[in-house]
Amino acid sequence: MTSLALTPGEVEETLSVKCNGLSFGGLLGETRRIASEIAAAHAPEVDAQARFPAETVAALRDAGVLSAAVPRAQGGAGCSLAELAQLCATLSQACGSSGMVLAMHFIQVGCVARHAQGSEFFRGYLRDLVAHQYLLASMTSEVGTYGDTRSSICAVESGGGRFVLNKDATTGSYCAQADAILVTCRRDKDAAASDQVLVLVRREDCTLTQTTTWDTLGMRGTASPGFRLESSGAGQQIVPGSYADSSAQTMVPYSHILWSALWSGIAADAVAKAATFVRGQARQNPGTVPPTATRLAEVSMQLQNMKQNWQSAAQAFDAIGAGAVEREELSSMAWALRLNNLKISCSEAAPQIVHRALQIVGILGYKNDSPFSLGRQYRDCLSASLMIANDRIAAKNASMLLVFKDAP
Ligand SMILES: Cc1cc2nc3c(=O)[nH]c(=O)nc-3n(C[C@H](O)[C@H](O)[C@H](O)COP(=O)(O)OP(=O)(O)OC[C@H]3O[C@@H](n4cnc5c(N)ncnc54)[C@H](O)[C@@H]3O)c2cc1C
Repeated sequence: MTSLALTPGEVEETLSVKCNGLSFGGLLGETRRIASEIAAAHAPEVDAQARFPAETVAALRDAGVLSAAVPRAQGGAGCSLAELAQLCATLSQACGSSGMVLAMHFIQVGCVARHAQGSEFFRGYLRDLVAHQYLLASMTSEVGTYGDTRSSICAVESGGGRFVLNKDATTGSYCAQADAILVTCRRDKDAAASDQVLVLVRREDCTLTQTTTWDTLGMRGTASPGFRLESSGAGQQIVPGSYADSSAQTMVPYSHILWSALWSGIAADAVAKAATFVRGQARQNPGTVPPTATRLAEVSMQLQNMKQNWQSAAQAFDAIGAGAVEREELSSMAWALRLNNLKISCSEAAPQIVHRALQIVGILGYKNDSPFSLGRQYRDCLSASLMIANDRIAAKNASMLLVFKDAP
């Protein structure tokens, strides 16, 4: 008689399918399809016009990918960080800006999912996010704080169960297109610059006045000009606890791992073009190995190192429980150093890899109108070291290493 008992893997699968229709495998398949059929087709125009990749995000929404980071308890797919990173890397092989939008959205969902589970309002919000596939944006930057995400000038004013929050942000990716924005600010008007909270601002409850343009070298589709935000809402939209914790335990690990993954996706796209080029050369002279094949072997090693760097960090992160006590480990210097090193090393590796791919392909990679063009990939990667300046991160590492004695 055949046993009807489900294996642990099948139980997991059934649970996931019940929760949002797709398991991680299903979401990855959908993301691959969207990358090749939609994101790749629109990437040149998104880049040329510096416009939001609306078609790609609409397709991600239709496929349920926007709720991949929502826990199963709220109806999401409950993907691990390693799985979310895989989705971002996959999409960015077709369009770096789309990969960055997806990564930034997952970072915000992660902050809510991991730090607001004690709030009935936020549990309901996550269920609504699954149902409506809301897109979340982020506003950490501020005029006058000079790229230091751990200090704010603006403060949330609370009273009578409501809040008022106004902020002048230097950079706000796809804020105009998002359903809500997670905004950092001081806890109240008397709080220190580093005593911050995160506030969920609904798009319909705010006015966004664009203050600068977004005509950049790369990542043009993230549509990230400066904005003056004026907002209000219910007091329960303030994420419980302190941003110091959600930053160290979620925002920084999610950002540095998901960004590294998407940068590796852009680099992988460049290496794939170089590989196609080299194979074409080999076909022209059967029986010989073209000199560019040696360069291809070298760059594929660098790409593999980059991938393994973020994959191992994601696996180590996923091995730590999501509970408040287990998460404390992520506030340690050892983790801060590991994540900072990951960010610096992957942000430096990505443009180097694209540069090496360009040396392999030559003039066809330099031309904007060739199928081997590497211009967009190169320009997109140049943002990596600036997006939270590497010098700023290195300075933090330098001061931690004065007191941190264990090997990181
Ligand atoms: C593609 C992209 C999308 C973005 N999206 C968003 C978004 O959605 N929301 C948001 O809020 N922000 C966003 N940002 C902004 C980002 O969060 C940072 O605020 C911004 O990249 C930092 O800008 P900065 O170079 O002026 O800042 P700074 O960090 O002040 O750097 C300025 C200069 O000072 C140097 N420097 C700084 N500190 C030190 C130090 N300690 N030692 C030595 N040199 C130092 C840096 O190397 C740099 O040359 C985005 C940025 C990019 C590139």
